[in-house]
Amino acid sequence: MNAALERMMDFDLTEEQRLVRKTVREFAETEILPYVEQYENEERYPTELVEKLKPLGLMGPMIPEEFGGSYSDVMTYGVIMEELARVDWVIASVVSVANSLCAGSILHHGSDEQKQKYLPGIASGKIICSACLTEPRGGTDLANMETTAKPVDGGFLLNGTKVFISHAAHASLFFIVASIDRSKKHKGVTAFIADPREMKGLNIGAFPMRTLKRDNLAEVHFEDVFVPDEAVLGTPGGGFPILGSALDMGRFSVAARCVGQAQRAIDLTAPYAMDREAFGQPIGEFQLVQQKLAEMVARTEQARQLVYRLGRMKDAGVERCSLESSLAKWKASVAATQNALDGMAVFGGYSVTAEYEIGRLLMEAKALEFGEGTSDLHTKMVAEYALGIRKL
Ligand SMILES: Cc1cc2nc3c(=O)[nH]c(=O)nc-3n(C[C@H](O)[C@H](O)[C@H](O)COP(=O)(O)OP(=O)(O)OC[C@H]3O[C@@H](n4cnc5c(N)ncnc54)[C@H](O)[C@@H]3O)c2cc1C
Repeated sequence: MNAALERMMDFDLTEEQRLVRKTVREFAETEILPYVEQYENEERYPTELVEKLKPLGLMGPMIPEEFGGSYSDVMTYGVIMEELARVDWVIASVVSVANSLCAGSILHHGSDEQKQKYLPGIASGKIICSACLTEPRGGTDLANMETTAKPVDGGFLLNGTKVFISHAAHASLFFIVASIDRSKKHKGVTAFIADPREMKGLNIGAFPMRTLKRDNLAEVHFEDVFVPDEAVLGTPGGGFPILGSALDMGRFSVAARCVGQAQRAIDLTAPYAMDREAFGQPIGEFQLVQQKLAEMVARTEQARQLVYRLGRMKDAGVERCSLESSLAKWKASVAATQNALDGMAVFGGYSVTAEYEIGRLLMEAKALEFGEGTSDLHTKMVAEYALGIRKL
């Protein structure tokens, strides 16, 4: 990577965090990146690449050592997510879903039994996680979910459908939200954690996608699926705040991933601009191309600063950082999309050929604008904080 950009990127980090960045980057560039296009072309889930993360402790960066994880601080987690996403969207998603949504929720809201049962497996990579939140009639209005959890003897019967579910067919732990009483809206929402392989009546089907096929997104149907009382995370009806804190950490990791993707667009575009010639000179010497590169750098750096500040706030113990999470998630995901678009402009027609990676980044970045709250939702939340409609 360009030394000038690297100095800027490293300035905010401690010696240890810089070392983690260097180690993860070297690993990702040698062990993951060379294979990503192959998986993309074969539309294949990267099971073998996930295996490579395990010996380095990269499956559990948010899980404390006592449960077998490698947690040191939230900033370090962000740096890891940034570097993994810089080379592969799916690999970053595996770690992000497992740590931000699943392990984080178990750590903060789970019983001792649930912690002992699941956290070491997630940290070692033995357990792949999946979060079943979004439904066919909407992902943004989560309190209005239609999946129900009917109390029965010894547990609950789940009924409903979840869509867009990443990693579902490969998972041995589901984080599910369902309502025990839809009339109570968010006060009926209940969070469950359970092994999908033990669920009778569960059906996992492919979710038809035009793009991003190697993520193997799934449609998950629950038909009278029994989950025992021990699968409840927290208390029945107490799932909405658990979901809120999971999404708060999820927003941090998705924002860090977006910074990595925005950076990747720069890493691909700058050398191409100096290599490709038109009118007898490298196109990188044309001012309009330079303008795009400069905007890409500025946008990435602004997003990175928002993400790092959010990480520092979390490390300082601020429990929920909703405003800052929304700002970071919104600006970083838009930066990733816009950088992919600007990069594509520099690549010209080659941006949509199979030969170059830049076109693929656009769809991946755009998808990240939807997950963990859409850009529009976060724009609305930031405005509401500014207007005093929403309070800290
Ligand atoms: C690649 C990919 C992977 C995913 N992985 C998962 C996963 O693993 N698990 C999971 O549960 N989900 C997953 N999702 C789903 C994702 O979280 C949802 O797409 C997202 O929450 C938005 O929901 P929706 O698509 O139903 O859009 P809707 O909620 O239908 O929203 C549609 C549009 O309306 C806008 N809108 C809605 N409400 C408001 C409002 N109040 N104010 C302003 N605008 C509003 C939205 O911003 C959006 O532009 C994934 C999605 C993708 C694309």
